[in-house]
Amino acid sequence: MSGLKLPISLEFFPPKTPEGVEKLRAVRQQLYALKPEFCSVTYGAGGSTQEGTFSTVSAILSEGVAAASHFSCIGATKASVREELATLKAMGVKRLVALRGDLPSGYGAGGEFHYASDLVAFIRAETGDDFHIEVAAYPEVHPQAKSPEADLQAFSTKVKAGANSAITQYFYNSDAYFRFVDDVHKLGVDVPVVPGIMPITSSSQLLRFSDACGAEIPRWIRLRLQGFGDDLASIKAFGLDVVTDLCDQLITAGVPSVHFYTMNQSAATMEIVRRL
Ligand code: FAD
Repeated sequence: MSGLKLPISLEFFPPKTPEGVEKLRAVRQQLYALKPEFCSVTYGAGGSTQEGTFSTVSAILSEGVAAASHFSCIGATKASVREELATLKAMGVKRLVALRGDLPSGYGAGGEFHYASDLVAFIRAETGDDFHIEVAAYPEVHPQAKSPEADLQAFSTKVKAGANSAITQYFYNSDAYFRFVDDVHKLGVDVPVVPGIMPITSSSQLLRFSDACGAEIPRWIRLRLQGFGDDLASIKAFGLDVVTDLCDQLITAGVPSVHFYTMNQSAATMEIVRRL
């Protein structure tokens, strides 16, 4: 556990170059000072990063830290998923983040899985309780959902298929998170829903990324970021204040844990936890 009185977890993406691998190794060593409960590694839809995901997971395990492999099912077959689960089990992985994923446009959906709930049910049927299964949650509604109500139902179905806990898409509006947690409780979901926290370290990347993934940047944050232009120091200082305040509100309200999207950087996450 970090100096905080609740567990934290950290997310990384698999680096693409040998330099990236070395840089991430150094970043992890710094972040391990926070004593994360586990570190998770993202997985490109269609298995595009499988090798990098598995080797990063393996490196984390060899450093004596619990690792979770993200695992997306879009485009996959039951045979390919079965094989990958066996590999992960043999590596000593005990935790998965089970996702549908998004195929790049131009790819047909194909495959034998349509939704994350299909994957969760399959993992449970095939491997019993071998894995702790996390799923994704969208307090501000998944961008492809037919309606907010349908999205809540889909989340409830996914949890009831056998998930142990959930991690949210990042958000900067805590009311959306609190409302989501209340609403899913009413649907009988009682697993922990851990807020996913994205530190703000740059402006254009965050604004571009958020539109696509179902996270809203509130107008006041968007305008303040745009107003800073290229002044990176001001963007970082503002981002630290905003995200620390958000975490503070969530922790005060009693969230079970906090998951940081580190973007393979250590400074912002470490400073936020230090301030908390
Ligand atoms: P699902 O839960 O299957 O939901 C997808 C959509 O389908 C939603 O709109 C939902 O409302 C709808 N839906 C679900 N079930 C039904 C049903 N039965 N009938 C009709 N509609 C239904 N992406 C990656 O590629 N790699 C990663 O490593 C990765 N990690 C992530 C980690 C977290 C914590 C989060 C929040 C997201 C992550 N993503 C990742 C992004 C994720 O893959 C995308 O958001 C994707 O579009 C949805 O995946 P899901 O598992 O939430 O899908």
